[in-house]
Amino acid sequence: MINFQYLRTTIVKTALGLISKDPKATFIAGGTNLVDLMKRGVTAPEKLIDINHLPLKKIELINNVLHIGALTSNSGLAENAIVKEKFPLLMLALQSGASAQLRNVATVGGNMMQRTRCGYFYDTTMPCNKRQPGSGCGAIGGYNRMHAIFGTSESCIAVHPSDMCVGLAALDAKVVIASAKGERKINFTDFHRLPGTTPEKDNNLQKGELITGIEIPVNNFNKNFHYLKVRDRSSYAFALVSVAAALELNQDIIVNARLAMGGVAHKPWRLTAVEAFLKGKQATVANFEAASKLAMGDAKSFGENDFKLKLAPNSIIEALTVAKSKA
Ligand SMILES: Cc1cc2nc3c(=O)[nH]c(=O)nc-3n(C[C@H](O)[C@H](O)[C@H](O)COP(=O)(O)OP(=O)(O)OC[C@H]3O[C@@H](n4cnc5c(N)ncnc54)[C@H](O)[C@@H]3O)c2cc1C
Ligand code: SF4
Repeated sequence: MINFQYLRTTIVKTALGLISKDPKATFIAGGTNLVDLMKRGVTAPEKLIDINHLPLKKIELINNVLHIGALTSNSGLAENAIVKEKFPLLMLALQSGASAQLRNVATVGGNMMQRTRCGYFYDTTMPCNKRQPGSGCGAIGGYNRMHAIFGTSESCIAVHPSDMCVGLAALDAKVVIASAKGERKINFTDFHRLPGTTPEKDNNLQKGELITGIEIPVNNFNKNFHYLKVRDRSSYAFALVSVAAALELNQDIIVNARLAMGGVAHKPWRLTAVEAFLKGKQATVANFEAASKLAMGDAKSFGENDFKLKLAPNSIIEALTVAKSKA
């Protein structure tokens, strides 16, 4: 039994003051990832600051930008009327994650901060550079069926497990971050990191910072969209490969495209070069196939995940085809 202190506050400033004073303190929201990590000995915070009662649960459309509080639950966000109408791609991505029970308590901020599901990361008897820098990577040359094919390094080939984040990466979201020094905003696609030589860092949130919200500009991607998640079971399983696809169409011509993938990299994998390729082209299967080839340019597999080299392009073609076919 490892002792820890538990504190709860209803004031953002107090939460920021508490976290900045104590390097061994951490925030707890829904607890659906953090508590598992504590039980398995992967992490051992000395102080938990419960942020569930902070006033960060609003979902509001202001001047054509959707503002989402970081403590909104995953199910609350998916069921919100504005999200359903204007950001249905995000709704689908959220509904693909975890189970209904988990989505009821999992929060937006916690979902972004959830750690990889790499088995070696959770097993404290195994080497893992992410859990213990310098100890090696058990997955390279080991069991790596779920692992990355893009943006890997010699230190780590883990993937970010979130579905919601793939939708947010595709929709040009911004992350709102507060600290004792004030507020800053960064592009969602710059929030998560590639592993490089520092795989212990999942993202660019600094110590003492709190995610307070997400902002998404209104777009024209609420008609032709699809979130395709390929997984071992039809629910309650993480993605082998997922694709968030959205097309803005004028008849058959692609005016604009958005494409991001999950289950393939250490961060949600936005495919901006492929989006540029599709822009102005006809929405045909031949063009979707060419786009999928372009997407796979830098892919590299590690043995047990070789199948993703086929699954990923096929998933892109399927997601774009379904997106196009929506009335
Ligand atoms: C069995 C199972 C299956 C799952 N399947 C899926 C799936 O298919 N797809 C998917 O996307 N997810 C899946 N999940 C993951 C789930 O979505 C996450 O565990 C959840 O979103 C985390 O949110 P939380 O609020 O519970 O975070 P917590 O566990 O409370 O916190 C996680 C981390 O985030 C930090 N944190 C939380 N909020 C903030 C904030 N506002 N600012 C800064 N730091 C913060 C905490 O300090 C902690 O380090 C699954 C989980 C389980 C247990
Ligand atoms: S892939 Fe990353 S998380 Fe998994 S064992 Fe290697 S270093 Fe650890």
